[in-house]
Amino acid sequence: MLGEIRGEVRFKELLTFHTSLRLGGPADIFVVPQDLDDIRHALCFADREQLPVVVVGGGNNLLVTDRGLRGVVLRLDGCLGRVEFQGEEAVAGAGAGLSALIREAAALNLGGIEWLAGIPATVGGALAMNAGGPDGVIADAVSAAYFLHADGTLGEFKPAPGAFASRSFNFPPGAVVVGCRLRLHRRPLAEIQKDIRARLKVKKVSQPLALASAGPVWKDPPGQLASRLIERAGLKGKRFGAAEVSTKNANFVVNRGGAGAADVLALIDLARQRVQAQFGVTLEPEIRIVGE
Ligand SMILES: Cc1cc2nc3c(=O)[nH]c(=O)nc-3n(C[C@H](O)[C@H](O)[C@H](O)COP(=O)(O)OP(=O)(O)OC[C@H]3O[C@@H](n4cnc5c(N)ncnc54)[C@H](O)[C@@H]3O)c2cc1C
Repeated sequence: MLGEIRGEVRFKELLTFHTSLRLGGPADIFVVPQDLDDIRHALCFADREQLPVVVVGGGNNLLVTDRGLRGVVLRLDGCLGRVEFQGEEAVAGAGAGLSALIREAAALNLGGIEWLAGIPATVGGALAMNAGGPDGVIADAVSAAYFLHADGTLGEFKPAPGAFASRSFNFPPGAVVVGCRLRLHRRPLAEIQKDIRARLKVKKVSQPLALASAGPVWKDPPGQLASRLIERAGLKGKRFGAAEVSTKNANFVVNRGGAGAADVLALIDLARQRVQAQFGVTLEPEIRIVGE
């Protein structure tokens, strides 16, 4: 079954090279599929061998442990990367880059998803995480999502109440998101660009974009900012090894070069404990921690 895959199959691939935090141990079996059939072959193989499957999009929200991942890792970035525009809708493959999609739409005077500008993501990763910010989330624009179930059959999802939540999309367990339709609307390019520039400016000031990170570590508790709670707990700039609570935004842990996942996990645990002890607030992780 693995032999039928037309894309790439690698063994003991270090995930350091596939995550924005630039750390993480090896994936036993690392598949870069070329098309839907490749994904089906990989899912079928994993099912037959009773192996877990982890999907990696752009790896911008992942903390992979130092011992890495047993089973099959499907790396979708770039695979299923096509975007088509049909009237005021974009039909995008899961591996398409979110920034490229926003840019291509803007060039056609199509806006409506400017609030997603500057979020590093594949379309699949943005859907799985219901990515967004204070002005909106990707769910606001989704008119349909498509996935491959673990048994290889294609499924379609139409937005329904409860399907998306804060930084999550409750698609069927084990399914792989393969694409979606996004509602856009006509808007002059100059206006879209103005909004995008404003959003990127805010991101540049408020997030440590130049350093390796996995984005916001915690979801903001209702009515509060996780960054502010961690800062007030005295953890801004706190380091374990080369992992550091960002001095720019305390809700980011940055890798200053050579950090291990264990260092990052220790900082995360410390923040959780301190915020709980000092403010009685239970932080809920936004980043996805995977691996042994
Ligand atoms: C500097 C920086 C700034 C950020 N700012 C923001 C922000 O403002 N707002 C925000 O929401 N996020 C932000 N993030 C986090 C991150 O960009 C988002 O969570 C993004 O949606 C991750 O997309 P990805 O393709 O990299 O997904 P990955 O990190 O690869 O995966 C994330 C999760 O989605 C799952 N997944 C990915 N693709 C699929 C698929 N095709 N099918 C099924 N499951 C899948 C993975 O298994 C994993 O659980 C930031 C990250 C960084 C590094």
